[in-house]
Order: sequence, then structure tokens, then C-alpha cells
Amino acid sequence: MIRFEKTLSKKEPGDAVYEELIPAGEGWMHPLRRGQTLRIIDLEGNQGLDLLIYDLHNPEDHYSATQTIVRQKKLYINAGTVFVTESGKELLKMVADTCTCHDTMGGACATESNTVRYGHHTLHMKTCRDSFILQLAGHADRYSKSDLVPNINLFAQILKLPDGRFEFMDGISSPGSYVEFEALNDTMLLISNCPQINNPCSGFRPTTNKVLIWN
Ligand SMILES: [Zn+2]
Repeated sequence: MIRFEKTLSKKEPGDAVYEELIPAGEGWMHPLRRGQTLRIIDLEGNQGLDLLIYDLHNPEDHYSATQTIVRQKKLYINAGTVFVTESGKELLKMVADTCTCHDTMGGACATESNTVRYGHHTLHMKTCRDSFILQLAGHADRYSKSDLVPNINLFAQILKLPDGRFEFMDGISSPGSYVEFEALNDTMLLISNCPQINNPCSGFRPTTNKVLIWN
């Protein structure tokens, strides 16, 4: 497992201007304006969460795993990582992280990958892709399913093994672990609180997460 130093936040929850729970297996889509800070808390621990980031004023320019990885010259992300778009625009900076274990390459769970990996009986199980589609449909004036692009997996590590295979790691995040992002430009955030029960990314028992926003 690859882990970085913890970076704590000094922000007080009582000063937040926005607070919301994201129930197990549900989605959340919300803008984060330049200068605002978002904290995502893994309340019960071991709960993977999939994050997409868009330029609020130009959704076609979205988070790029490739650009972000190349720019920081490492596969994994931690406090200090700047998340950039396909065009190179800076959207978010991770400013605090007590989990220290996240993924940039595993992608979001989907019906298609579930049935290939875990069997046809998983066909009707909800996936992150479903939650993303449902949230995008609520913003159909500006977004469509073509805006489903590579995502970040928070509170989850998917190890890249020397032979090229991926391996889902278990027991990554403890209860109350959090990450914080500062918006470097106006962004739209799209989260799926992963409903996956076929691999360890949500401990085989998805739980609720919480988001806080400060001005
Ligand atoms: Zn998922």
C-alpha cells in the first residue's frame, strides 16, 4: 500500500456555509466557487467515493487524470495535488488529507464491468455510473452522459501491480477520515458515494458520507 503524510485542516465545522449528507450509494452534484473549500468526510470509514470535476463555465473542460498525473509526476494523489483539466486549467487543490490513500486510475464501477468481473447476477445492482447519470440528468440543460469521463476514487486505493494488473485494497480509510479541496477556479463537482458490494472499496457495506463547504 502507498500512503503519504497526513495533512490536517484548521477549519471549524461550525463555520461552514453548507453541510449535506450523501447516503450510501447515492450521488451529489454541486458547484464550488473559486476560493471556497470543500471537505468530504468518510463518516464510518472504508467508504469509496467517486469524484468528477468540471469547469463550471465550460463543462466540456473537465478533470483529466492524464494531465494531473503527468504534471505531478506521480500516479497517486495527496495534499498538494492540483487537479487540472484536459486544457491544463487548474480546478482544485487538495489542501488536507487524513486518509492519504486515493486512486486516479481505477475508474467508476458500472453494470458492464460488474457483470464481467463478478458475474451476471450483478446486472441489476446499482453502480457509480448509475448515480453519475442520475445526477447529470438533473442538470440536463448543460450536461449529458457524454460528460462521464475518468474520475478520482477517494478513500480507496487500487494498487497498480508491476505486472500491470490492478488490485483493490481493503481497510484503507478509518472512521472520520477526510479530504479537503480548495477551488482554484469555479467548478462543478459530481460525486457518487459508491454502492459497490462486490469488492472491498466500500468494505462490502456502503455507508454515508458528509460534505461541508466554507467560503
Ligand atoms: Zn462505485
